[in-house]
Amino acid sequence: MTYPPVYFPKQMNVFIIECIMVLFMSCVTIRTNLCSPNTPSLKTLPLDGHFNFHEVHHAARDFGNRYQFLPVAVLHPKTVSDIATIVRHVWDLGPRSELTVAARGHGHSLQGQSQAHQGVVINMESLKVPQIQIPTGSSPYVDASGGELWINILSESLKYGLAPKSWTDYLHLTIGGTLSNAGISGQAFRHGPQISNVHQLEVVTGKGEVVNCSEEQNEDLFHSVLGGLGQFGIITRARISLEAAPARVKWIRVLYSDFTAFTQDQEHLMSAENTFDYIEGFVIINRTGLLNNWRSSFNSKDPVQASQFKSDGKTLFCLELAKYFNLDKTKIIDEEIENSLSQLSYIRSTLFVSEVAYIDFLDRKKLLENLTQQKGPCYVKGTNFKDFISAS
Ligand SMILES: Cc1cc2nc3c(=O)[nH]c(=O)nc-3n(C[C@H](O)[C@H](O)[C@H](O)COP(=O)(O)OP(=O)(O)OC[C@H]3O[C@@H](n4cnc5c(N)ncnc54)[C@H](O)[C@@H]3O)c2cc1C
Repeated sequence: MTYPPVYFPKQMNVFIIECIMVLFMSCVTIRTNLCSPNTPSLKTLPLDGHFNFHEVHHAARDFGNRYQFLPVAVLHPKTVSDIATIVRHVWDLGPRSELTVAARGHGHSLQGQSQAHQGVVINMESLKVPQIQIPTGSSPYVDASGGELWINILSESLKYGLAPKSWTDYLHLTIGGTLSNAGISGQAFRHGPQISNVHQLEVVTGKGEVVNCSEEQNEDLFHSVLGGLGQFGIITRARISLEAAPARVKWIRVLYSDFTAFTQDQEHLMSAENTFDYIEGFVIINRTGLLNNWRSSFNSKDPVQASQFKSDGKTLFCLELAKYFNLDKTKIIDEEIENSLSQLSYIRSTLFVSEVAYIDFLDRKKLLENLTQQKGPCYVKGTNFKDFISAS
């Protein structure tokens, strides 16, 4: 028996295809978020904080903006036990489960490192315990949550006249985020990276256990987690070494067009006596754009001077230097700086000096971010350091 073919009108065909598409898309959305096989088991976990199964899209982004992995849930932990509970849950599900967990600090990684495809992202900034504690004494330190921002550590420790020794250039990053990398800036030649200035960590291990570790206790875990890219445990608390904080900073930038001269001067300064407290070199391209634009170093009050420097489109090398001091030592510091600079072979017309409070120096990238509002630091340009001293 044969059946006559069925013909739908054209509009009907389009309508059916649209319905199928809508159904398919909603299935994808529903499956990725609310109907994931892992969602029911997550909902049964006892927590002091909470899961969010709806507002998860921000956790699928990072600073790099190249990768977007949508998690099934974001955990906002209130206690370390919340973090241990979710990690233990994943461990108990066994190797067949595809549920993954990632700690997210401030989300400033570039390649999706703090994202978890169909997994759980732990929003570390929700963890406020312990509150920042600063026991002073002969070997002062700060105890803080792994989700705390470095800028908050700085502000709090400065109240006691103290500060951590080693930094990143940008302070709006979390302790856990930089300690799971290295944490490098211009102080590293003297103090090592941030991971070399940690006394102790509290870590949630891959089995969901809460473990203290240091050079003396569980040292394998300590050294794995520091610089471990978040793969060996989640840092829930860190004890970080502090030193006396200076009041002021002489902040200097000089430019080179010759790479060899640039690196030789850097090496010389790093091994010299009475050298700077901060030494960092970077490559700059004479282009507009906040991070790459050497002109952002110039005093915005003097755009004419800034425009007079001709780089002929060359790549330039910038040596950024800083000397910390307290006000009673200003004269000695000026002499030391002048002496150090006289031994360098930078392009003489490109000396830029500023004097700022210590906190403003450390938080300078935020100042640069604010440059669009013309709030950048006030630089003075001269051909030698005396020009600056007489101008200030
Ligand atoms: C504008 C900018 C400036 C920067 N400047 C510097 C610099 O000067 N020096 C420098 O060294 N780096 C610098 N970085 C890199 C930065 O240090 C790393 O990307 C760092 O990981 C970001 O910290 P975060 O809090 O945003 O971490 P996230 O990006 O959220 O996480 C980064 C990694 O750490 C893991 N992680 C996060 N929290 C924890 C935790 N508590 N325990 C264990 N693992 C955790 C994550 O799972 C992920 O793998 C910069 C990045 C940007 C975007």
